[in-house]
Amino acid sequence: METGKKYSQFISSLPDQVKILAVSKTKSDEEILELYHLGHRDFGENYVQELIGKYERLPKDIRWHFIGHLQSNKVKYIAPFVHLIHSVDSLKLLSEINKQALKNNRIISVLLQCYIGNEETKFGLEPEFIHDILKNLNSSSFENVQIAGFMAMGTNTEDENIIRNEFHEMKILFEACKKYNSELVILEILSMGMSSDYRIAIENGSNLIRIGSLIFGERNYSKKN
Ligand SMILES: *Cc1c(COP(=O)(O)O)cnc(C)c1O
Repeated sequence: METGKKYSQFISSLPDQVKILAVSKTKSDEEILELYHLGHRDFGENYVQELIGKYERLPKDIRWHFIGHLQSNKVKYIAPFVHLIHSVDSLKLLSEINKQALKNNRIISVLLQCYIGNEETKFGLEPEFIHDILKNLNSSSFENVQIAGFMAMGTNTEDENIIRNEFHEMKILFEACKKYNSELVILEILSMGMSSDYRIAIENGSNLIRIGSLIFGERNYSKKN
């Protein structure tokens, strides 16, 4: 009940162009189903094992997003069904996703995770490298991935100006990189903002916010669901 109410209030407060990814890591099937029954279909998970279990048990029309750090050797487990991988932070990973997508006879949509000066998250591609990747991507080598946009995490700080600057930089990068749009690159999604900073993210052009605790309540890592 609680979760459904928080969710409904929350979505009614958002601008139309902004979509919510419900981040359901550590949350139970029942909590996910509560949102599902309200019509929500996009859920985000950080851990491959947890995602596979939920995929197998829960309704098949859920769109599962992978948002955690992804090791190349685990791509094969999620490749058959994953809807969008937000956390592509190396060419090696992109190439493995392409390979597994080919094996599954599908195209997998991905976001490039950008590093925007966040000291705590060591993952993410530097902006210059993102330009390089997009510029040099050639369709003969990567036929089974589609780069649909970028993901970024703001620094975990009380200082909103720092976060605002980071998200603003992301927006500039996002717009600048649209010149690389092609068959493989269709930059449409800017995945920025979590429970603590989603407002700043929306002000700076985010159109997909990743919300966990604000909908589901605080996560409890010690107790397994
Ligand atoms: C856990 C997580 C979120 C959601 O965090 P909340 O603060 O609970 O909203 C968003 N994005 C990523 C990458 C996460 O790991």
